[in-house]
Amino acid sequence: SGLITSTAAIPRYVRVNTAMWTTPQAIEYLTSHGFTLTDSYTSGASDSKDFAKDAHIQDLLLFAPQTSFADEPAYQTGKLILQDKASCFPAAVLAPPASDYAVVIDATAAPGNKTSHLSALMKNKGKASGFPLDARRFKTLKTMLDKAQCTNAVPVHRDFLTVDPNDGQYSSVTHILLDPSCSGSGIVNRLDYLIESGTKEDEDVTADRLSKLAAFQLKMIKHAMKFPQVKKIVYSTCSIHATENEHVVRDALLSEEAQANQFSLAPRNEALGSWSRRGLESEMASKEDAESVIRCSPGEDFTNGFFVSCFIRKEGCGVETS
Ligand code: SAM
Repeated sequence: SGLITSTAAIPRYVRVNTAMWTTPQAIEYLTSHGFTLTDSYTSGASDSKDFAKDAHIQDLLLFAPQTSFADEPAYQTGKLILQDKASCFPAAVLAPPASDYAVVIDATAAPGNKTSHLSALMKNKGKASGFPLDARRFKTLKTMLDKAQCTNAVPVHRDFLTVDPNDGQYSSVTHILLDPSCSGSGIVNRLDYLIESGTKEDEDVTADRLSKLAAFQLKMIKHAMKFPQVKKIVYSTCSIHATENEHVVRDALLSEEAQANQFSLAPRNEALGSWSRRGLESEMASKEDAESVIRCSPGEDFTNGFFVSCFIRKEGCGVETS
């Protein structure tokens, strides 16, 4: 496979919003609107009307890169959501239960693609609280969740770090999705820019910025680990830098919060084991830890650059509560 250096070669990924209809219904609709379902995606002509089901993510469909959904009613009404494949990994790995008693937090929810994915996986049961930080993003999140009919999602305009883990409203949370601000260095368009403009000075600025981001990301994970009933925490970034990925996870595992609350990494078979690209072994404490986490390479995986890790409380070992 050739190097992908621009969005032109990345398929158009479309997630069927199963809160509103089923994937077979969406496929029937699309085929009656001029598209043709094929067995597997091959990056053919950019205006091809072929589409395919994704091999790793349920309810995700692949279309030719230039396919436009702007005028498509199913997109306009929230039944189809445009979402990069890698950014579907966090909710899929968190795999929140579809139970009336489920209590889930999306700690950094805005603009809301992952919250709506969580709602769909929970079949709109239980409660998924999403915390956007600023007012403008709170509005965006609310609009997004309304449009996607995420009836179990509750947007709360609040800084996640100020949420008291022992507050009665949240103390029973079992699953937390943490997709905090990062450098965004995995976003393909941005990579083109970085490659072109990378000077020594830029690199120094980047190193300083990366370590500040990493400190913030670690703080967020440690805060999530303080929730008394939490069994699973998924931490993700759209960064390609080990500083924000493997190093943050390594430091989180060594933290007092992880030790006191018995957190370890979920084994590979509980974290999208079928995905072959895993963490960088040289940047983690062990080969096993590196195998437990997921990387997406913008050059090779037909996605943006991305990183996903999954912490579980040892005694629970991935056992779902329902
Ligand atoms: N998960 C989102 C999605 O898929 O649509 C994207 C999240 S984006 C990478 C990171 C978000 O975290 C930003 O919207 C940022 O404002 C928010 N954020 C940063 N610090 C936060 C905090 N302390 N509490 C809540 N949100 C925060």
